[in-house]
Amino acid sequence: MSNAADKYKSLLEDVACNLCGADNYDVIYLPSYEISQPDKIVQTFRSSGDEILIDQLVRCRKCGLQYLNPRIRQDLILEGYSEGTDETFISQAAARERTFEKHLSIIERLVPNKGRILDVGTAGGSFLGVAKSRGWDATGCEPNRWLAEWGRQRYGIHIHTGTIFDMNLGDASFDVVTLWDVLEHTPNPKSVLLECHRVLKPDGLLIVNYPDIGSSIARLMGRKWVFLLSVHLYYFTVDTIEKMLKLTGFQMINKQKYWQSLELGYIFLRMKPYIAWLSGMGSFLSQALHIQHVPIPYWMGQMMVIARRK
Ligand SMILES: [Zn+2]
Repeated sequence: MSNAADKYKSLLEDVACNLCGADNYDVIYLPSYEISQPDKIVQTFRSSGDEILIDQLVRCRKCGLQYLNPRIRQDLILEGYSEGTDETFISQAAARERTFEKHLSIIERLVPNKGRILDVGTAGGSFLGVAKSRGWDATGCEPNRWLAEWGRQRYGIHIHTGTIFDMNLGDASFDVVTLWDVLEHTPNPKSVLLECHRVLKPDGLLIVNYPDIGSSIARLMGRKWVFLLSVHLYYFTVDTIEKMLKLTGFQMINKQKYWQSLELGYIFLRMKPYIAWLSGMGSFLSQALHIQHVPIPYWMGQMMVIARRK
């Protein structure tokens, strides 16, 4: 075992199943600590983090939830998300705004009168910016100091620097709470959902999207599925997300595939760890042809669920 692997292992903690509390699991993928970079942990946990999964993935024998165990200590994860800049992430702000316009239309069909909306882990605030422009009273939180400030400047909205837990929000004060690409990054998703439940009005809506490990494409790609990343601590399926929503006081009312748009040049960039030659050639050609900013819709197993607060 290398020194790096030993050092990496010293940063890990064992966790029980977040859904049912059991500590009884099957190993789905063994860890590959030999390729770990323990000195770069804080840089790994960022909004655009795309390091390939090296931790052990397990599945709870009691409830079926898949999660990383052991995993990087919670305090180090939050430290990572709080610090640093993330130019890569905000380079895609325009593409994200287009995606969010589409998904906000879906929300507005269910909440035509709009109202107060909270975006948890809002990154650069693109969703809140779109919501505000469409007449919502929009607010959010983001642990990354640099991204939160960027969002405040760009969209002129209130973004609390930190997590939902230190926002001091009143009970039943929001009509809609959204978690875009966030829940699978949080060390304790159950507690996040309970807090969302507390701040939502009765019958308020919760919107969660997540990469679904039970999706056809995830099962087809197996170990090479693009969402098997170090930053994803939980791997939900429709079954386990529904169980967790039920446990935290929600009723799932809708589920659908979640299409996102990213710019062509960015997709080639993100392809680098998987198919390096295609990434390099694609990046070169898309720049030469000036098509690197063309938005490309893609689906790699992402799901969006809508739940009603009971
Ligand atoms: Zn469990």
